[in-house]
Amino acid sequence: MFKFCNLYSGSSGNCSFVETDNTKLLVDCGVSSKKLEEALNSIGSSLNDINGILISHEHSDHIKGLATICKKYNIPIYANNPTFTNMKLNISEDIKYKFNTNEKFEIGDIKVFPFSIPHDAAEPCGFNLFHDNKKITIATDIGHLDNKILKNLDESSFLLLESNYEPNMLKCSKYPYMLKKRILGPNGHLSNDEAGFAISELLKQGVNNIMLGHLSEQNNFPELAYQTVMNSIISKNIDVNHLTLQVADRYKPNNVINL
Ligand SMILES: [Zn+2]
Ligand SMILES: [Zn+2]
Repeated sequence: MFKFCNLYSGSSGNCSFVETDNTKLLVDCGVSSKKLEEALNSIGSSLNDINGILISHEHSDHIKGLATICKKYNIPIYANNPTFTNMKLNISEDIKYKFNTNEKFEIGDIKVFPFSIPHDAAEPCGFNLFHDNKKITIATDIGHLDNKILKNLDESSFLLLESNYEPNMLKCSKYPYMLKKRILGPNGHLSNDEAGFAISELLKQGVNNIMLGHLSEQNNFPELAYQTVMNSIISKNIDVNHLTLQVADRYKPNNVINL
């Protein structure tokens, strides 16, 4: 058994749930512990069952609930050293598990490979999670794509990929100039078109179970992200018959995906 569920996604807070027969993990923790518990209860789980929380980077939409969870629950927290330092949270040493980016490690029966991503945080990473010859990839907060990242996304049985903004909506938005520059820049976020490009490449290699996530609330909406990605694929004459493409819900869990 290898299951994935998006609990919350977007600039308002990110958290994913992964489960095998004997391991339950969260990736990021960007909503309150109360909201997280609600989401977990709705899919038949609870924070009390969680064996570890992986943290991709220190931005608040990925760690908002962590301080309370660390106080209330004894869940091991996995992050690299620069992320632990920059989270500026009082996490007890007993539950701190430091990993090195780009080095594999294990939590229960899940092999974890944290890979570098270009984003304006201390040492941000995406995650490959391996179990039962299957691979789940969680890749959000990516400023730009390169071959190394595409390689980490390749061969995924399921991929959660950022599709953050529509460039014209962002350019016309009320965001301050510096914030627009940051989002559009090489260490900001991935646009719908860039997600479309990545998925077109991955689809050729057989990656066909994909969820678009981390959508901007102001500069994107689910139908637009979905349609932009689909148009990008179809314009390259790539067959979409075997593609399952979903958009991650912002405020509630999506269906549990069984791999
Ligand atoms: Zn971020
Ligand atoms: Zn983020």
